[in-house]
Amino acid sequence: MISAQAIHKAFGGNEVLRGVSLDLMRGEVVAVIGPSGSGKSTFLRCLNHLETIDSGTVIVEGEVLAQNDASGKAQYVSDAQIRKIGHKMGMVFQSFNLFPHLTVLENIIEAPMLVQKIKRSEIVPKAEALLKKVGLLEKRDAYPNRLSGGQKQRVAIARALAMDPDIMLFDEPTSALDPELTGEVLRTMRELAQDRMTMLVVTHEMGFAREVANRVIFMDGGNIVEQATAEAFFANPQHERTQAFLQNML
Ligand code: ADP
Ligand code: MG
Repeated sequence: MISAQAIHKAFGGNEVLRGVSLDLMRGEVVAVIGPSGSGKSTFLRCLNHLETIDSGTVIVEGEVLAQNDASGKAQYVSDAQIRKIGHKMGMVFQSFNLFPHLTVLENIIEAPMLVQKIKRSEIVPKAEALLKKVGLLEKRDAYPNRLSGGQKQRVAIARALAMDPDIMLFDEPTSALDPELTGEVLRTMRELAQDRMTMLVVTHEMGFAREVANRVIFMDGGNIVEQATAEAFFANPQHERTQAFLQNML
């Protein structure tokens, strides 16, 4: 679903990604863990073009987003093609990013109507089905400021799903939540995984990574230091830095 090869990204002189490669298979759930500042968010943002890469290759479902030219500098495809590829991916952020002036339902139907030109009469039932799926149909007409953090994040997930993505990217979706509210969001994500959604999840929730992820990637200092099946990763971390990180988390 995603093939990212040798991704390099610097902000000014700060080299944040130093040759990161990842292949994500259909239906796979991959957890990305690592210390703050290791480049996890930047990597996710490079995959869906919220950031541009300096060099490397990004291919999404067989379609090239960017690849190196002869000088080894990444060149992007046309804006139209970038948009098309972008729509394959839904993203959920730590900070929810709901529109405060729109109701829950309006938040969900906005992008499908504006971007995909789907008729309101068609998208409303679908939005309601998604709200039912995340357990929030009764909040259909509420404004975001009336929702708990966990509810906001579940709406954000429903909103991303309304665009019919093939891949879902999550950047620390529970990190801004009070501990008692993380469970409901993780449950929604677990159900999505059971529905065989392809998911790349940056998370500090080791329980979730262990139980739901097929594969775990550990990033440090702009590199993937270690990756393994979730089982092997937690039972037998190989790298010293992984061991130290896990010791602090568990
Ligand atoms: P993580 O998500 O693992 O905490 P990030 O990808 O957010 O790490 O950040 C990695 C490094 O890149 C940090 O040093 C951060 O300060 C820097 N960085 C991230 N985004 C930007 C940006 N837009 N401009 C400048 N530096 C950035
Ligand atoms: Mg981050």
